[in-house]
Amino acid sequence: MKIDVVTLFPKMFESPFEESIIKRAIKNNIIDLKIHNLRDWAIDSYGSVDDKPFGGDVGMLIRADVVYNALKDIKKENSRVILMSPKGKKFDQKKAEELAKVDNLILIAGHYEGMDQRISDFMIDEELSIGDYVLTGGELPAMVVIDAVSRLVSGVLGKDDSNKTESWSEIEIDGQKIRAPEYPQYTRPQEFMGHKVPDVLLSGDTKKIKAWQLDQIKKELEKRKSE
Ligand code: SAH
Repeated sequence: MKIDVVTLFPKMFESPFEESIIKRAIKNNIIDLKIHNLRDWAIDSYGSVDDKPFGGDVGMLIRADVVYNALKDIKKENSRVILMSPKGKKFDQKKAEELAKVDNLILIAGHYEGMDQRISDFMIDEELSIGDYVLTGGELPAMVVIDAVSRLVSGVLGKDDSNKTESWSEIEIDGQKIRAPEYPQYTRPQEFMGHKVPDVLLSGDTKKIKAWQLDQIKKELEKRKSE
């Protein structure tokens, strides 16, 4: 999968992907991550990419023409263009699964006061938010999307891990397909400061263990319903 990011702060993307799973995916050419500096498409030699909002609002907005020119160079036929925005649809595991099937993702990170509305109106496929709060820029949100999507791309996780059902992946409980948090897991020591690992997990009875895990998920869902 090819992932392009358009940002005013390319350096922010350096170290987060030089560790662990995503680093290996990039090294193995499963993920091809390219970070583009929006200033490469600046309108003048001073590197201008933004301007004051019409109507007297404070702050600076990224210009529509600058983003248009960047996309003209980066976008391909199979690209899915996503604008990171607190106004967007909430990013979740279902969306990550959908995006993991795309050949080329282009993520646009805003900064400052935001972006000219025309970017959202006619240059992109969708607007995604990582939650109902405002960050200083779309760089961290873009990294969240890159991480959550990349680990679902075939070959990025180890064989054992990729078959596993995890929090918010679709599971079947009592004939119903739902998305839910994962059941609790434990490792050694078997007892820690008086807290014991549930006996069933030490029983070796896989049927019983599975039933216990499902039961834990159901209990957690009930608990959340009453909160
Ligand atoms: N004035 C805007 C906020 C701009 S924040 C508003 O009130 O809606 C600057 C940039 O940070 C945005 O353009 C966006 O790219 C990014 N950003 C901030 N919070 C975000 C969030 N929760 N999800 C995704 N992107 C976000």
